[in-house]
Amino acid sequence: MNASSRPLHARIHLGAIRHNYRIAKAFAPSSRALAVVKANAYGHGAIAVARALAAEADGFAVACLEEALELRDSGIRDRILLLEGVFAPDEIAQVDAAGLTMVVHCRAQLDWVLAARPERPLRCWIKVDSGMHRVGFAPEDFGAIHAELGACAHVGELGAITHFARADEPGHPFIQRQLADFDRALGGRAVMSSLSNSAAVLSLPSAHRDWTRPGIMLYGISPFAVPHPAAELRPAMTLESAIIAVRDLAPGEPLGYGGRFVCDRPTRVGVVAVGYADGYPRHAPDGTPLAVAGRPTRLIGRVSMDMITLDLTGMEDVGLGTPVQLWGDRISAAEVAQAAGTIAYELFTGIGRRVRLIHEGV
Ligand SMILES: *Cc1c(COP(=O)(O)O)cnc(C)c1O
Repeated sequence: MNASSRPLHARIHLGAIRHNYRIAKAFAPSSRALAVVKANAYGHGAIAVARALAAEADGFAVACLEEALELRDSGIRDRILLLEGVFAPDEIAQVDAAGLTMVVHCRAQLDWVLAARPERPLRCWIKVDSGMHRVGFAPEDFGAIHAELGACAHVGELGAITHFARADEPGHPFIQRQLADFDRALGGRAVMSSLSNSAAVLSLPSAHRDWTRPGIMLYGISPFAVPHPAAELRPAMTLESAIIAVRDLAPGEPLGYGGRFVCDRPTRVGVVAVGYADGYPRHAPDGTPLAVAGRPTRLIGRVSMDMITLDLTGMEDVGLGTPVQLWGDRISAAEVAQAAGTIAYELFTGIGRRVRLIHEGV
C-alpha cells in the first residue's frame, strides 16, 4: 500500500489540449492567442499544460504573480499576462525581473507603475470596463490613462483589454454594446487589443483583434450551453475511479445520508471512491450520469465526502475494481455540471488535492 493506492485519478490528455489550442488559433487566424492557464490550468496542472503548449503557444495568461512565477521557474519563456495585474506595489519589481505583462485596472495600480523604478520598460495592458463592471477604467477615461502611461519613460508596451459578460450567449445585444463601448474608449487610437475569451473566439470574429484569451475551450469544453457545431473540441480531463464495494438492496431500503434515494426495486449498488472532498459536486442529484466500464448508468444517493453510490442493477458482470468514469470522453463534464447546478469551470477548478493528475502525451 502507498499514498497512491486509492483508485481515483484524473488523466490529463495533453494532446487534446494542443488540439484545442490549434482550434482556437484556427478560429482567429490573424490573432495571437494567450492560453489561459490560471487556477492551475483549470485544474489540469499549469506547469504540464504550459510545457505541452510552449512550442506553439503565443503566450499564457494567469491570475496572479505566484501563478506566473511558477511558470517562469519551470522554464516557460513566452509572454505571460497577469489578468488582474499586481496586488501590491512591491510586486512590480518581480514583474520586471520575470518580464511579465500586467493588466492595469485601477488608479492605485497606475500610481504604482508610475512610481516604480524598473530595469526594463514595463508592459501594461489597460483594462477597460466595457460593461462587466468588476474592474477596469470607464471608457471615457481611457484616453487620459493611456496618455499618462504613454508619457511615463519606464512604460514600454501599452495595450488595451476588456472582458465580455455574455459572450456565451451569441447574438445577445449586450455583446455589441460592450464592443462599441470598447471601441469608443480607444477612440481610433491604434492600441494593441485583447477582448476574446473562448466564447468570443468561437462566435465573434469582430472581437478577435490582436490577442485572444481562450480558457475553457483548451480543456475541451464548449463555453456555450451546447457543444459548438464546428469546433471539435476534445475533452482533456478524464476523472476516473473504481468500484470499492457492491451490495444488493431490497425494495424500500434507503441509501446513504438522509436516505435521499429509496430503492423501488431490488437494486444492485456500487460504491465508488470519489466524493465532494475530491471535487465531485455534492449537489449532484439522483440520475447524474456516470460510466461503469464504459457503460452509462446513474448516481443514486447523496454524494459523501469520500464516496458516491451508483446504480449497478442489471450489470452483473461488474464488481470490485471495475473502473468508473465520473467525467471525460464518455460522460461530458458539462453534463455533470449542469445536473449539479454548476459549470464545468467549477468542477475542474474544484479538483481536490487527493486526486492524482496523470499527464499523458507529454
Ligand atoms: C478566465 C479568463 C478568460 C478565459 O475565459 P474562458 O471563458 O475560460 O475562455 C479570459 N479572459 C479573462 C480576463 C479571464 O479572467
